Amino acid sequence: MRESGEPVRFHIGRAMVGGEEPVIIAGPCSIENPEMILETARTIRKVLVDELGLRNVIIRGGAWKPRTSPYSFQGHGVKALEWLREAGDKTGLPVMTEVMDPRDVSVAAEYVDAIWVGARNMQNTPLLRELARAGKPVFLKRHFGATINEWLCSAEYLLAGGLEEVALIERGTRCINEYARFSLDITVVPIIRKLSRLPIVVDVSHPAGRRDLVPWLARAALAAGAHGLMIEVHPEPEKALSDSKQQLSFSEFAETMRMLRGMRLL
Ligand code: PEP
Ligand code: MN
Repeated sequence: MRESGEPVRFHIGRAMVGGEEPVIIAGPCSIENPEMILETARTIRKVLVDELGLRNVIIRGGAWKPRTSPYSFQGHGVKALEWLREAGDKTGLPVMTEVMDPRDVSVAAEYVDAIWVGARNMQNTPLLRELARAGKPVFLKRHFGATINEWLCSAEYLLAGGLEEVALIERGTRCINEYARFSLDITVVPIIRKLSRLPIVVDVSHPAGRRDLVPWLARAALAAGAHGLMIEVHPEPEKALSDSKQQLSFSEFAETMRMLRGMRLL
């Protein structure tokens, strides 16, 4: 296993992943049109960079969406990547997206600074191999039914393929809590910090499934020692084409970030 050795740290643009200061990966669930991704990126920049003085900021947005129903919005694909790249260039922030299909890896790598593997594709080994070949930094989400060791073995596919810039994202488990979308097991954070040299980020939006829980999960994740947060933000969450219940509005996002700063977690 290549999982032993010095802790992994890497830069994505100006953002440092795995360092002392947490990274904030924020943006909409799906990139719905060019205006909304630019407006969201500008707001994130204003709050995190201009107001709070953070450097470790990455814009997220889905171009290919893993939807339960084939009749739900599936994402705008490569067009969305163009809009995302433009939003990144205009704000000076690095951008990342999810890739599900190994055939989309090379086109995605032309547009984005990093790629995340969604929960449902954690064990999509042809995808992991292709990502290792592409050489872009990869954030690997844990599947909601996968064990920690299965997750770390999937990360090994990336490391064994020669990729050094790999981080993990915890995003909750399918469980007994019917008041949240998934159960967020915060013990994963210190366990990964002990077991693995890879940075551990917590996605606080997907386990919550509802906006009111997001700030609480964010403070818990950072207090537990996470190297960063992934958090969904949308200009008009109630009108979002995916995950409308859990995305934060701009004002909710700003309040959450100020609260974390007030608690010295950011
Ligand atoms: C997402 O990040 O929008 C997403 C679909 O997440 P997950 O793969 O964790 O369900
Ligand atoms: Mn989502």
